[in-house]
Amino acid sequence: MNVVAGVDLGGTAINYTIVNEQEQFLIEGLCEHPALSIQGPEVCLAQIEDGLKIAVELAGVSFDDIVAVGLDTPGPASSSGVLSARGSTNFVHADWSGFDIRKSLEARLSRPVTYLNDGNAGALWGHFTIFGADSRETSVSAVIGTGLGGGVIVEGNVVKGRMGFGGELGHVLVPYQSIAGIDGLHPKCNCGRTGDLESLCSLTAIALTLLPYFLPRYPDHELAKFDSSKAAKFVRGMAEKGDPLCRDVFRVQAHALGLFFDEMVNTFDPDALIIGGGAIETGVDFQRWFIAETRRGMPRQRTEQADIPIHIMPNGDTAGARGAAIEALKFTRAR
Ligand SMILES: [Zn+2]
Repeated sequence: MNVVAGVDLGGTAINYTIVNEQEQFLIEGLCEHPALSIQGPEVCLAQIEDGLKIAVELAGVSFDDIVAVGLDTPGPASSSGVLSARGSTNFVHADWSGFDIRKSLEARLSRPVTYLNDGNAGALWGHFTIFGADSRETSVSAVIGTGLGGGVIVEGNVVKGRMGFGGELGHVLVPYQSIAGIDGLHPKCNCGRTGDLESLCSLTAIALTLLPYFLPRYPDHELAKFDSSKAAKFVRGMAEKGDPLCRDVFRVQAHALGLFFDEMVNTFDPDALIIGGGAIETGVDFQRWFIAETRRGMPRQRTEQADIPIHIMPNGDTAGARGAAIEALKFTRAR
């Protein structure tokens, strides 16, 4: 039996999945192994191989059945998997600087290895859940977590970009001044921009910008007694229960996302828009409310485009590994 492996190398853990030629995933939930990236490439690549052996056992296949491996990691990295020579938070060991992780893993495993950054892998997973692996459709995925990630799939293929920064959706500017109820707000992002999507639509934005803006309007609110990075973690749960302040916070995020989606509709005329990430790992009712608010935040669409579907991305924890596996599966089919 021929299978393809997906390897999602995160900051502290490696997550694995195995998919067969019928596009069935042979590992249901998380299959994790410690990453040890902090000890440098040699130790980390050995860890990846060790964990892969555990994963194939869990999937009920053998190591020899693996015909290709899809790898994804946090960036910055080139589109072909060369990590930034400037270093990054997840690859602090000096030996990672300018390291070709895709090619090195390929040599170690003696199998073709494909590469995506983690945001783009998540986007490909979201796309796959709607359209399958052989699609020619176009989708845009926004993944709301600590920051805002995601990616763009055009006619079935991930837009990686010239330098590997394709799909850095969090740093796309949105005309936030048109969002109602945030007069005087100046949302700043770590990247230096004011008013990009991440500056309004992320957990960081809740802590740095939205809670400090809204809390003074609710002086007796229970979140006022926490510092804002701690308080930010409670906002989703309280918004789901209907707390007015927390709904205000999520409404602003949804309207910012709506403005961004409107830009994407006019750029790509996509087949689907997809929302993922911790922010909407909630009950279905809250997800529906959030999608409705996102639509409300979009300027009026042309009649032909008004019915563009907005989906929620399933299986958040395994999205990276599964998207990476789909990229490798597409590679084997193209050969
Ligand atoms: Zn930014």
